[in-house]
Parts: sequence; structure tokens; C-alpha cells
Amino acid sequence: MAKGLLKRIGAFFGKEKSDAPVPVTPAQGRRIIPEEEHQIRRQDLDDNAMKVVYRLIDGGHDGYLVGGCIRDLLTGEKPKDFDVATSAHPEEANELFRRSRLIGRRFKLVHVRFGRELIEVATFRAGHDSHPANTDGEHGRQNASGMITRDNVYGTIEDDALRRDFTVNALYYCVKDHSIYDFANGYEDIQNRVLRIIGDPEARYREDPVRMLRAARFAGKLGFDIEPHTAAPIKTLAPLLKDIAPARIFDESLKLLQSGYAEAVYDHLQEFDLFEPLFPQTQQALQSERGELVETLLLNALRNTDRRLAQRKSVTPAFLYAALLWYPVQNLMQKLIEEQRMPPLPALHEAANQVIAQQVKSTAIPRRFSTPIREIWEMQIRLPRRDGKRAQRLLEQPRFRAAYDLLLLRENSGEELNGLSRWWTEYQSADEQKRMQMSNAVGKGSKPRRRRRKKPASNDE
Ligand code: ATP
Ligand code: MG
Repeated sequence: MAKGLLKRIGAFFGKEKSDAPVPVTPAQGRRIIPEEEHQIRRQDLDDNAMKVVYRLIDGGHDGYLVGGCIRDLLTGEKPKDFDVATSAHPEEANELFRRSRLIGRRFKLVHVRFGRELIEVATFRAGHDSHPANTDGEHGRQNASGMITRDNVYGTIEDDALRRDFTVNALYYCVKDHSIYDFANGYEDIQNRVLRIIGDPEARYREDPVRMLRAARFAGKLGFDIEPHTAAPIKTLAPLLKDIAPARIFDESLKLLQSGYAEAVYDHLQEFDLFEPLFPQTQQALQSERGELVETLLLNALRNTDRRLAQRKSVTPAFLYAALLWYPVQNLMQKLIEEQRMPPLPALHEAANQVIAQQVKSTAIPRRFSTPIREIWEMQIRLPRRDGKRAQRLLEQPRFRAAYDLLLLRENSGEELNGLSRWWTEYQSADEQKRMQMSNAVGKGSKPRRRRRKKPASNDE
């Protein structure tokens, strides 16, 4: 066993420091779980990931399937992707494949492409307290608060297991005899449905605060209990998320929202004060007078998302973000209308600009999402104006569907919209004649005088 590993296991048991935390990773070396016991079916393993592992082995290296795919197969979930761990250094692995690419600086790895599928191949890494190379700056780097800013110090498979985040994510599937190698007691934790961080919880969150978000995600997704020592420091350390690059937090926010268990994940985020650093403006709206409305809309949006994913339907990040930030935008818009007497549309545009500018400081929303988010919001102002041919035109807009979904959510959550979403639901299923009747009725019913006056000036209808 590696010297560093023994040292760390010693620390878990308080042999090195008298005030060491309660052990969270037992010293047990490697446990091998044979195929008869774990019962992962071979046909559930991804062919391409297997090809990658075999190629690595043929090239004279070690290779295993690792991480979330093994955890998910053991819990009966469908793996989202298959990750591979290897003794080959990134450059060596890259040479073995035709369609592969070296990526990353902070964490170098190799992407092997098979059509639309991507297999991630990561070299065994060592933790940041066992190798002198970790402090040389070139391979490993930690800043003053303990955050790992470079993580390219390679090690043995045991080192690699113990630098992973949770015990359930540190299981290695050996393709030679189809057994699972377990260095951190993850197999037992899966049986007991416990999410446990490897090593000293506080130090591991300081090394990478995103692990706190991952704890909320996996606990929500797996329905596991978070082991008490794993949970204990999160609330205090949650503000560290503000130091992470907003682009990484944006990616992570999508994983949380699109996990298929967003409602459960959200509960954990709130429980541990992790939601505020991600969506500070939404958190503020939650604490305002209209907080209940905000929370109902948010929970309904998350439930819908979970339901759609369970039905294998797509969900768009733009819609989720538009829903999450709707009340911050609406509140600000209202303020601009009342205090600065702005007309609704310019007020909305200004509010959208300000809210997005604020949000990108936490989660860097790429432009390909922020443009549709703005369009979905703008449609909220346009959907009530549905007289004459306007309704038909709105229906043909590319953002209509998402905008209608947000309108439904708003009204179902208790916003007073006079049955507008019901009107749109009926309109969509009506035939042409009924649609004309409906639009005409709106024209007559709501603003007959204004329409009459406007008519000579515009013939665009
Ligand atoms: P999923 O793919 O379902 O989101 P996953 O556990 O596979 O879950 P990945 O982000 O694909 O998550 O990472 C693969 C593996 O790499 C993890 O299972 C874990 O062992 C390790 N890992 C990922 N991120 C971290 C991290 N921030 N700190 C330590 N280990 C990590
Ligand atoms: Mg994965």
C-alpha cells in the first residue's frame, strides 16, 4: 500500500492527530466484490467504454470503469455516462486512440469520441497531502484557503480512490474478472444508502467547494442519507462557492436542475444554504412578501422538469432559468414602471438586463441561453395581447411553447392572470374557426375603443 495512503488512513483514525475528525473512511485496503455478489449485468455496461478499457489494457496499462456509472448500476439507475480510470498518463492514453483529445488544464484528461458518445479517461491521481509534487505548482496547486487549483499529480489506484469525492463514487469495475474493487467502503455505503465523503469533510470541501453541490445532487438523486460528518460543515462552508468560476457553477447548476430529481435536490440545497450562492436574486424573492408565490412557481417548475425527464422528454435550460428568475425580473420591472413611469416593454428589457447581469456573477449563463431567456420573458408581456391576428402570430413564434409553459406555471402558482393560460390552452386545441371567434371576442371584450382608434394608423393586421 502506498505510504501516503497509509498516512491518510492513519489520520482518519486519529493516529496522527489527537483532534482528528471521527473516521469516515475505514482502513481496509482493497475489498473485491465478485460478480456473483454485485450482480451488475454485463449487457448494461457500455460497449464503447469497454472498448476504451480493453485498448488501454492492450497498450500495457491498467484500466477500469469507475465513478457514477458503477454507482448507478448498483442502485438500479441508468448511468448518464461512463468514466474510465487508467494508469496511463493523459499523453499516453491520447496516443492509443484515433478519435481522442487531451483536454483541461486544472484537471487534464482524455476525451475519446464514438459518434455522439464521449468517454472520459482520467489518469489515476493522488491526493493533495501525500505527494511532494502536489506543492510544486506545476502538477498540483492549492491556494491559501486550501482550494485545489491544479490537480495533475498522478498516483496509484488506491491514491486515486481516496482522492475521489464520495465513497459511492470510488468503485472500480475490473473488466478482466468482472469484479468491483472497493477501497473506501463504498459498496457497503451503497447497501446502506449512505452518502459519505472520503477523508476529512471540511478539508475536502475546502479543496473543492463544488463537492458540496455534488453532495446535494447525489443525495437527492439517490435518495441517500447524507452521513452526519459529511453534512456537518456544509452550511458554514457554503459561501466558498462564491469563489468558484461562474462558468463551472453554471454547468453544475444544470446538472442539479436536470438530474431528474430536481425537487429533492432543491430541498437539500435549501437545507444546507447552498441555493443562495447559486441564485441570490431568487433567494431574495423567496424571502420577500411574495415569497410563497415564488416558491410555488419554483417547486412546480422543478416538478415539471422531473416529470418530463422521467418521460424521457427534453428540458431546456433557458426555460428553467426563465422560471427561476421570473420573479426577480417581474419585481424589478414593476418597480421601473411605478417609480420611473417606464412603459412595460422597455421596463422589462431593462429589468432583464439587470437581472441577467447580476446572475452571471454567480452562474455564467452563455449567450445561447440568455437570448431565449429574454424572449420567454418578453412573451409574458405579449401573451395577454391576443386580439385580432395577434394570437395566431404569437403561436407561431419559436418561443411560444416555453412562454406558454411559464404562463401556465405562473397562473397555477397563484398569480392573478384572469384565466389567461386557460385561454391559451383552449386556443391551441381549437380549430381555425373557433380561434377566430376567440380572438375576436378578446378584441371586442377588452379594449374596443383603443382598437378603433389605432386601426387607421396601422394596417399590419
Ligand atoms: P454523474 O456522471 O452521474 O453526474 P459522476 O459521479 O460520474 O456522476 P462525474 O462528474 O462524471 O460524476 O465524475 C466522475 C467521477 O470523478 C466521480 O464519480 C468521482 O469519483 C470523481 N469526481 C468528479 N468530480 C469530483 C470532485 N469535484 N472531487 C473529487 N472527485 C470527483
Ligand atoms: Mg459520470
